[in-house]
Amino acid sequence: MSRLRIGITTGRQLQDDEWPEFMIDQTPTAYARCIRSIGYLPILIPISGHQNLAQDYIANLDGLIISGGCDINPLIYGEEPRMALSTSDYVRDQWEIALFQAAQKAQLPVLGICRGFQLINVLLGGTLYQDMSEISQQEVSLVQHIKNGSRFIYPQHTIQIKESSILYNLMNKCIEVQVNSYHHQAIKKLGAGLEAVAFSADGLIEAFEQISAEPNPPLLGVQWHPELLAIHQKNMLKLFTWFELFK
Ligand code: MN
Repeated sequence: MSRLRIGITTGRQLQDDEWPEFMIDQTPTAYARCIRSIGYLPILIPISGHQNLAQDYIANLDGLIISGGCDINPLIYGEEPRMALSTSDYVRDQWEIALFQAAQKAQLPVLGICRGFQLINVLLGGTLYQDMSEISQQEVSLVQHIKNGSRFIYPQHTIQIKESSILYNLMNKCIEVQVNSYHHQAIKKLGAGLEAVAFSADGLIEAFEQISAEPNPPLLGVQWHPELLAIHQKNMLKLFTWFELFK
């Protein structure tokens, strides 16, 4: 049996504004390591301004991971940028939108992680808190979801998982799971066709799934970083075996 081919989107770093030819395609090595260690073939996909290439990538894949990274341009979900918005990359946004749409058309399973989780949500009509400071401290007692200087291979807060979900089975039928957390944005309004299947103690959505697998292509999104947590907690690798459910 051939290995499942899993595409992983990447970010990029402009090392020197004066020398754009040295721009570097990059993604944390943990994504490819996780995919390899469960016997799949990781394929990194560099950002491209040629959106017509998206369907060619998708045609050669069995699944797609939209990875973590910078903030999404809020114009995509119909909002003006607020002061606490961080860096966004217009070209990456447009490229990942093209990949997601091509994947949907080809019925390819898509796993969104952190930024990818947020991107899938807004492409299905959802919205984001551009910064969690937008959530009134009077309304909820916020959990700390980002702490610069922390090691993200260790858990930071708990989540509660719905027993009816696929995620629950992937997490060895645990209702409460400890996850890492490295996000200053969060889902405000959930996108159409998605079901929230995990929540942090402050009520924020930490995972979603597609409500019905048929006829829609399967979607799973997680706000935490299973690829980094898996370095410390091997059970987190099982999350990536989600792709086998649809081969
Ligand atoms: Mn979190």
